[in-house]
Amino acid sequence: MPARQAVPPTTLASTAHDAVDLALAAVLSDTAEACRRAEAMAQDARAAGDEGGEAMGRLILAFVELREGELAAGIDRLDEAQAALSRHSHARGELLARHVRTQALRRQGRNDDALGELTRLHALAAQRPPVDAFFTVMALGTVQGMLDHQDNSLASFYAGLTIARRTGLPSLEVNALNNLGSVQLDLYNLEDAQPLLRRCLELSLAIGSRRQRIFAAGNLLQCLSAMGLNDEALVLARTHLIPVIQPGDPPVLQRDEEIAQALVASGCFDEARQYLARAPQSDVLTNATTATRVWLEMQVMVADGRSAKALTWGLAHCGLTDDATVMPLDRIRLIEYTAECARRCGKWRTAYEHQHRAYALKDVLLGRAARARFLSLQIEHELARAQAERDDAFELAHQLERANLDLHAQVRANEVLRQQLESLALEDPLTGLCNRRALFQAGQAALDQARRTGSDVALALVDLDHFKAINDRHGHDAGDRVLQAFAEVARQAVRPGDVVCRYGGEEFVVVFAGASAQVAHERMNRVLAAFSGLTHEGTAGQAFGCTFSAGVAGTAGGVATLAELLQLADRALYVAKEAGRARIVDGTA
Ligand code: GH3
Ligand code: MG
Ligand code: MG
Repeated sequence: MPARQAVPPTTLASTAHDAVDLALAAVLSDTAEACRRAEAMAQDARAAGDEGGEAMGRLILAFVELREGELAAGIDRLDEAQAALSRHSHARGELLARHVRTQALRRQGRNDDALGELTRLHALAAQRPPVDAFFTVMALGTVQGMLDHQDNSLASFYAGLTIARRTGLPSLEVNALNNLGSVQLDLYNLEDAQPLLRRCLELSLAIGSRRQRIFAAGNLLQCLSAMGLNDEALVLARTHLIPVIQPGDPPVLQRDEEIAQALVASGCFDEARQYLARAPQSDVLTNATTATRVWLEMQVMVADGRSAKALTWGLAHCGLTDDATVMPLDRIRLIEYTAECARRCGKWRTAYEHQHRAYALKDVLLGRAARARFLSLQIEHELARAQAERDDAFELAHQLERANLDLHAQVRANEVLRQQLESLALEDPLTGLCNRRALFQAGQAALDQARRTGSDVALALVDLDHFKAINDRHGHDAGDRVLQAFAEVARQAVRPGDVVCRYGGEEFVVVFAGASAQVAHERMNRVLAAFSGLTHEGTAGQAFGCTFSAGVAGTAGGVATLAELLQLADRALYVAKEAGRARIVDGTA
């Protein structure tokens, strides 16, 4: 089996971390630091009058106590912190307290209850900070493993590794690698276990966590021993365990069996004896260490030439080999070594029976290992795919964002264009007449031509009479129809070269090219006659009429510009209005 090196590299920190995140990360790497952080958090919060924050600090202290096996003290502190957190509706704290409670349940051996609650909490992962979600999924994986749900356990730990890498907190990644590596080891999937545990040790050294270094080295040592790499296992013990672990360290940090295992495998029996002579530090959660210890003690006895005693010792612990909570690998080693001792003692039948049992268990274990290997590949594949999908989604979101920006820019550009086009348009949409802009173009052209040909130009400025009252009385739509009617009448009355223009609301300008003011005046009289003869219909069906007033001005008086003509006409219009409306007044007169 070629060694796999398929542990992807650590990702860099991507998120900012608050005090709770950092204290929780320290729970994994350095419990003393975690306690310091939690105390400081509680103190700061108390000073700020933030009782929820203070309870959060105490909750983390309870978490550390429960993880370290101080059950009674931990539960008391947890009860009190949880009550305070729920009093203050501290959303993060309430969920974290429920998580810490599962730690107590596990310590009390209530794994089924813990599994239920962890499953519920895991379902809320998306709404929790990643660090909190990490602790829950890792605890879930541990409980699943203990209840022999190995597939789920593996999946949970892989999910934990993914979250850990996303948080950018290395102690979380070390923890996930360690758990994954150790479950792979238990399943005898050494091919996956080895690179995971190597990476775990490397990273724990990088972050300088003594605690995580001991965990990683202990697991890697077991993996190397299982692979028969005894020299490397011994170097590991001499580098990372023997000089690092202190006699005063808590049981959770003692690695007597692992160290003895490396020593025994390399024939250092005297040294091994010292470690085995120390009080067994059996793990509170399993009795796996006991099986390993018996196996090691038997080897030391055999080395001392006491094979019969070793056999008796092995047979005395037969119960362990049937205990499902003891890891299969530990059971197999114990059974096989009992068979070996029986052989040495000439007890062939016992030897055969034990060897036979060992083979049967090995079949089971190899089946599990193959399955774990298969699952790991599948999970890695799925993770890679999920990662690729996430990358794709990011890229799509990016593209969409860019497209949106483009679209916004385009909409803005269209709006500008529309405004430009509107201002460029020469036609009034309601009446179809020229608009003001067209008037200045056409009017100026008429004036220019008049100057060249020495002819006249006249214009009339028209304003409908009492138009506001028409709107008020007959409705705005009726008003619009009156404007359209005037346009129609005016268009009919002028000659092809003349320009009729809607100047503003109910004001119009008619430019009479090559005509004098007098001619314009006459023509406007005809327009007025035609227009005031019309009957319009209001919105409610009532009939009404409309008139207009107009001022006329012509170039005959030496006037040269359109503006001047308009000004003259406007004055005449004012006169027409003053004189009683419905009339044409000549501005040049
Ligand atoms: P006067 O005889 O003194 O000119 O009185 P008036 O009511 O015609 O004059 P005023 O300037 O007070 O009112 C003009 C009205 O024309 C007010 C405005 O609401 C209306 N108006 C302007 N543009 C339009 C339009 O496009 N459609 C309609 N229905 N009414 C318009
Ligand atoms: Mg007006
Ligand atoms: Mg008017």
